Amino acid sequence: MKFDYKAEDLIIKPYKSESPVYVRKQKGRYQRIRQLTGFVFVMVFILLPWISYQGNQAVLFDIGKQQFHIFSETFFPQDFTLLAGLLIVSCYLLFFVTTWLGRIWCGYVCPQTVWTFSFIWVEEWLEGSRNQRIKRDTQPKTLDNIVRKSAKHIVWGLMSFLTATTFMSYFLPTHELYLDLIALNWTGLTTFWVLFFAICTYGNAGWLREKMCIYMCPYSRFQSAMFDKNTLLIAYDKVRGENRGRRKRKDNPKELGLGDCVDCNLCVEVCPVGIDIRNGLQYECINCGACADACDQTMTQFNYAKGLISYTSENALLGKKAKLLRPKIIGYGILSILAMIFMAYTIQVRVPIEFSVLRDRGTLFQVDFDDNVTNSYLLKVTNKSQLDRHFNVSVLNSNVSLSADKNILIKAGEIASVPVHLTMTPDEIKERVSEVSLQVSVSDMSDVKAVTKTKFFSN
Ligand code: SF4
Ligand code: SF4
Repeated sequence: MKFDYKAEDLIIKPYKSESPVYVRKQKGRYQRIRQLTGFVFVMVFILLPWISYQGNQAVLFDIGKQQFHIFSETFFPQDFTLLAGLLIVSCYLLFFVTTWLGRIWCGYVCPQTVWTFSFIWVEEWLEGSRNQRIKRDTQPKTLDNIVRKSAKHIVWGLMSFLTATTFMSYFLPTHELYLDLIALNWTGLTTFWVLFFAICTYGNAGWLREKMCIYMCPYSRFQSAMFDKNTLLIAYDKVRGENRGRRKRKDNPKELGLGDCVDCNLCVEVCPVGIDIRNGLQYECINCGACADACDQTMTQFNYAKGLISYTSENALLGKKAKLLRPKIIGYGILSILAMIFMAYTIQVRVPIEFSVLRDRGTLFQVDFDDNVTNSYLLKVTNKSQLDRHFNVSVLNSNVSLSADKNILIKAGEIASVPVHLTMTPDEIKERVSEVSLQVSVSDMSDVKAVTKTKFFSN
């Protein structure tokens, strides 16, 4: 029997290989804004770990000590609910901005976009323009090609290494991290994580690029659920552009039956995700505005009005009035503001003390010769502030006397174990088990105190 297919046709390929996207360099107003936002983002990312606040690193996520320092605040694992609150605020803000401005985050601030454009800039610098790069990849390998490509990968490697080291300086003290790097004294764990993040950066920005946005980013998949007909997006004005077709500058398009699109293909060549925006709104589009800049450039050359591709909305394209205030955007806006107020309030009223009471496991209670009953406890007091402080322990029940080191010095961010003994005389004992309230306060902050209740056993 003769089969009309080959053996390799039977192999199921999980991933369809795609031709690489060669991005053409584009100038224009949106690209200037994108470069500026990218620059500000990178500068903040690099400089933030170097900033000191009250003698400490201002932003440090100290995983080893389980403490997150953000300027005047220190967060502990017990503050996990605040992290949940922060995620809720970020989600509402993202919903609000996406409904209003579309995928502006992706195009202008997303680290994947910022780093990908930086890597493309290096590629262009060392390998030449888009056409030169295509030529290099299709021609036989020459010495010049090998040298330039090797140089590109070395620069990408250095950028990835610096990115990873900077990222690690959010988790380890910055000065020590760099001093240890100079002395080649990194621990195995530090070396592992820096190499891991460097490989991720190199792979994402150098090789995967738009595939991260298209196949891996969940945001690109669900962002359309937030869009409505008034959301700002990059779109091609089909009514004005079609019929597309090539022509000379002096030609009259109306006489030729053509629209304003001269089919120069520039909008496709500058697109970092390799799509043709003239095919309509696509989830791959990151709203970077490069195609709008490219098209404006072509429109200017042909003396046509700019804006054939522009930031607009579906309603505006249909000639309807675009509405800014609409129920969805107002709802997300109100929720964002409420969530931010709640977060700010929660952080503001947070006390820099955390304490828990553990009963003595050895004996339930002790009775002395005068029939006085004593219960013993161990207090675990955490100083959640960034300064060494004195703490006072007291009991709020007037019928109970306390024996403990009442003024305890606890270093910033540390936990102290304080033995406490509570005693009741026979006259004061009314019940077999009574409730007592212990209080810990800060010596130099009269209004800061924390109270917890525990049981007192008398027989
Ligand atoms: S279609 Fe335009 S806005 Fe969208 S990603 Fe491509 S170049 Fe950027
Ligand atoms: S850049 Fe503008 S004119 Fe050129 S192909 Fe794209 S839409 Fe048409």
